[in-house]
Amino acid sequence: MTPLSKNAFVVMGMCSRSRQPFGITVDPVERNQLRLVWAFKINADKARREGYDKTKMKGAIEYGPEYPGCPYCESTQFYVCHRCDTIVCYHGEEQVTCPKCGVTAGLIESEQIELTGGGL
Ligand SMILES: [Zn+2]
Ligand SMILES: [Zn+2]
Repeated sequence: MTPLSKNAFVVMGMCSRSRQPFGITVDPVERNQLRLVWAFKINADKARREGYDKTKMKGAIEYGPEYPGCPYCESTQFYVCHRCDTIVCYHGEEQVTCPKCGVTAGLIESEQIELTGGGL
């Protein structure tokens, strides 16, 4: 696996199909450039205890060569819920409902997104 920088962090995601939580390892490889390195199944209670909500970082997303996509449905597309900051995998819908907080919204495309996460 690609070595991570010391600034790497984990953000919480949730699968829109299975409604199961997962974590994504993100490495800010350059200024304003966030690389998605890996995705893995995670226990939601564990994630809360380990404080995966302490880091905020903004940048353009790129995919690392080993990034597997959502560990449940394998989608590599996602959006970030504007209400709860969760990454949710995306399947081309015009309107999406966040599986975590239930908010329904249209999507806005943006070059830079802000991710909230925590230490590895
Ligand atoms: Zn999924
Ligand atoms: Zn949400």
